[in-house]
Amino acid sequence: MPRALITGITGQDGAYLASFLLEQGYDVHGLLRRSASADVIGERLRWLGVLDQVQMHDGDLLDLGATLRIVERVKPDEVYNLAAQSFVASSWQQPVLTGNVTGIGALHMLEAVRIACPGARFYQASSSEMFGKIQEPVQSEKTPFYPRSPYAVAKLYAHWMTINYRESFGLHASAGILFNHESPLRGIEFVTRRITDGVARIKLGLAKELTLGNLNASRDWGHARDYVRAMWLMLQQHEPSEFVVATGRTTTIRDFCAIAFGYAGLVWEEHVRSTAALMRPAEVDVLLGNPAKAKQQLGWTPEIGLEDMAAEMVEADLARHRARLGTAPTLVDVRSTAN
Ligand code: NDP
Ligand code: GDP
Repeated sequence: MPRALITGITGQDGAYLASFLLEQGYDVHGLLRRSASADVIGERLRWLGVLDQVQMHDGDLLDLGATLRIVERVKPDEVYNLAAQSFVASSWQQPVLTGNVTGIGALHMLEAVRIACPGARFYQASSSEMFGKIQEPVQSEKTPFYPRSPYAVAKLYAHWMTINYRESFGLHASAGILFNHESPLRGIEFVTRRITDGVARIKLGLAKELTLGNLNASRDWGHARDYVRAMWLMLQQHEPSEFVVATGRTTTIRDFCAIAFGYAGLVWEEHVRSTAALMRPAEVDVLLGNPAKAKQQLGWTPEIGLEDMAAEMVEADLARHRARLGTAPTLVDVRSTAN
C-alpha cells in the first residue's frame, strides 16, 4: 500500500487530496498543527467523510525538528507540501509569518525529505500568483515570474528551492503551478466563497448586500477536485518537473457575481457594492493559464466547468445557512443557558 504524507491536510486541497488518495488505495498521513479549536479543525475532512481514515501527526511547518521526525516516522512514498499562509490579502498584514510558513516552511519539508527519506517523491504547491504582473497574456511554464505580494514572493522562493533540491540532491521534486481553484470547501475569505456565501445569505433573507473589492480583476478558476488529481499525476511521472494547471478560461469577479447570483435567481447589481477598503496595495489584474504541458504529459484535463462549480458552491452555502437557521439557539435558549 503506497503511503502519502500531506501537509495542509485540513485545508481545501488537503481534504480533497486525502479523499482522492484514499480512493486510490493509499495509506494517508497528515501533518496537523495544534489548535485550540480541535473540534472544528477537521471540518473539511469530515464533510468529505474521510476524517477517521487519515492518520494525523502533531507538527507545524515552522518547526524543522517536528517535520523531520514526522517524515522519519511515516517514511512516506509521496509528500505533498500544501501547507501555507495561503491568503494573499493577509500576506501584507503578516509578511514575516507568510515568508516563514509559505517560504521557509517548504524548505523545512525539503530538508526533512532530503535527510530522512530521500527516495520519497515531493510535490510543492506553487501558485499562479507568482506570475503576478503578467509578462505574457497567457502564462505557461516558460513565462517569467513577477510576484506582486509577500505571499507570491514566498511562493517563488519555495518554488525555486524545490527545483534547487532536485538539481542539487537528486530529489524527485515537482512543482504544480496551480491557477486559482475553488469548491464548497474554499476558505470563506476568498472571493468566490465570499460571493456564494453572500448569495446564500441574501437568498435566505439574512442579508441585503455584499461588499467586495476590485470587481475588474480576472482569474482562471478551476475546481479543486480536478486540481488535486493533477498533483497526484505529477508524482506518478518518471521525471519530476513543473506543470501549469489551469482551465484556459479567465473570468472577471463581476462575471462570477453574475453567474452565482443568476443561479439563485437574483440580479447581482442590486446587491453587490465595491469598496476601496477591500482593494489591495498591489493587484494581480488578470491570470490566464496554458495547461498544454499538463494535458500532453500528464493526460490531465479539467472536468468541472465554472458554471457547475458556482452552482455547487451556492447550493452548499444555502445548505449550510439553512442548517444553521434550523439549529441556531433562539434568544430564549441563549438567556436560559446564561443563567
Ligand atoms: P488553505 O488555506 O485552505 O489550507 C492551508 C493549509 O495549511 C491548512 O491546512 C492550514 O492548517 C495549513 N497551515 C497553515 N500554516 C501552517 C503551519 N505553520 N504549519 C502547518 N500547517 C499550516 O489552502 P488551499 O488548500 O486552498 O491551498 C493549498 C496550497 O496550494 C497552499 O499552499 C496554497 O498557497 C496553494 N495554492 C492554492 C491555490 C488555490 O487556488 N486554492 C492556487 C495555487 C496555490 P490550519 O487548518 O490549521 O489553518
Ligand atoms: P487570490 O487570487 O489568491 O488573491 O484569490 P482571491 O479569491 O483572494 O482574490 C481574487 C481576486 O478577487 C483578487 O484580484 C482580489 O482583489 C479580488 N477581490 C475583489 N473583491 C474581493 C473580496 O472581497 N475578497 C477577496 N478575497 N478578493 C476580492
